[in-house]
Amino acid sequence: ATISVMPELEEKQVFDGEKANLLVKDLRKSFDSGMTKSYGWRVSQLEAIAKMLEEKEKEITEALYKDLGKPRLEAFITEISQAKSSCSEALKELKEWMKPEKVNTSITTYPSSAEIVPEPLGVVLVISTWNFPFLLSMDPVIGAISAGNAVVLKPSEISPATSSLLANLIEQYLDNSTIRVVEGAIPETSALLDQKWDKILYTGSARVGRIVMAAAAKHLTPVILELGGKCPAVVESDVNLQVTARRIIAGKWACNSGQACISVDYIITRKEFAPKLVDALKEELEQFFGKDPMESKDMSRIVSPNQFARLVNLLDEDKVSDKIVLGGQRDEKKLKIAPTIILGVPEDAMIMQEEIFGPIMPIVTVDNIEDCYSIIKSKPKPLAAYLFTNNEQLKKDYVDKISSGGMLINDAVIHVATRGLPFGGVEESGMGCYHGKFSFDSFSHRKSVLYRSFDADSTISVGRRKGRSFQEAN
Ligand code: NAD
Repeated sequence: ATISVMPELEEKQVFDGEKANLLVKDLRKSFDSGMTKSYGWRVSQLEAIAKMLEEKEKEITEALYKDLGKPRLEAFITEISQAKSSCSEALKELKEWMKPEKVNTSITTYPSSAEIVPEPLGVVLVISTWNFPFLLSMDPVIGAISAGNAVVLKPSEISPATSSLLANLIEQYLDNSTIRVVEGAIPETSALLDQKWDKILYTGSARVGRIVMAAAAKHLTPVILELGGKCPAVVESDVNLQVTARRIIAGKWACNSGQACISVDYIITRKEFAPKLVDALKEELEQFFGKDPMESKDMSRIVSPNQFARLVNLLDEDKVSDKIVLGGQRDEKKLKIAPTIILGVPEDAMIMQEEIFGPIMPIVTVDNIEDCYSIIKSKPKPLAAYLFTNNEQLKKDYVDKISSGGMLINDAVIHVATRGLPFGGVEESGMGCYHGKFSFDSFSHRKSVLYRSFDADSTISVGRRKGRSFQEAN
């Protein structure tokens, strides 16, 4: 584990609690000086990130390839360009976001005026994950900086090339008295979590989310938890089949090989329609990845041997192995699994119990499309829920009946790129949200300020005149 630029601590090899404590103290000193609060500081750091994104695109793409075999175009579309647009939005809107918001006052406080003043929280911690290791590190950091905080980023050790690149680039481009990277795994993260932070944004599994929240509770630190879950896609038989198939493929296999928190985890469709959907998916998958997807350069690999073994275990369960209608091939050396479809998967199969996070798509078949509600509701609330249909009533019912972090009708995944929408989960899929203005708000305290004048001091004088106390008069 390494930390970027901390000369006073460089002689220490291990990043332990003592080092973490000194790091936070150091950043708090800078934060307390007031430097991060200014518009100028925020803009300078955001501009530095924009410059870094311009100048280091090649290095970022290479690191993502090393960690995940992520194709160049996919790396650009799903990570680099998203970070760029997040940064340019913050630069464009920051002045507006920082403005106090006027609010009406009531007769009780007349005469008075009131406003909500956004203020930075202090020193914040961002713990990120490996599947979009660049974007899911930089996007929260952009939010934290926009809101005027000092920030420590802890990237995932499971994507080491990107983690190390982030440490180097942040050291090179950003103000190291206020923005630092700590690389490492559980010991380093635990040392960080023992410290008092003013906010923690954690992206990853619900299991570790619980550890993060418990650590934060000791200091009453608020948390944003960006977790996962099983994201369903309900497909009604009235859809445009080819477009539906393409969009599901783009939101599953073409998106980091299904290793995405909002990728389609499973499909629910009518029994009699399922074979048609499978045929369309097969046909379109060939268009995306060719006849031999195991050789395709357009599909990311599985991140690690552990994840590979977990996925193979799901695939080889007796309950599902004889229901594979496409794919199933795997290459342990290359950490690749072919796009796989399992038709008519039983509800009690392991693959229906946990988030898949890989290129396997189970299809659950139902007699009536309305049966989807009980299936989805039998699982924890997902981070995203998808529906493909032309039926307006079904759309309305779905929005009304299904609770999920986000929802997208007639497509998959791309709601994440709609910057006006908050991104976050509900219950097991997370709490709090970010992206754009929501990031700014999540990393700010909205302070209520009421201004009164000494004029027309009616309340007390009315009370006194009547010979009663102030409390009685009120
Ligand atoms: P993870 O929880 O294992 O790891 C994430 C981070 O937590 C890493 O930085 C890691 O070093 C740290 N960590 C791991 N174990 C720890 C421990 N015991 N104590 C302290 N820190 C620890 O998660 P993962 O496997 O990297 O990610 C997969 C999950 O993340 C999936 O559920 C996925 O849906 C979810 N995810 C959510 C989003 C989102 O935006 N909501 C995005 C990507 C992934």
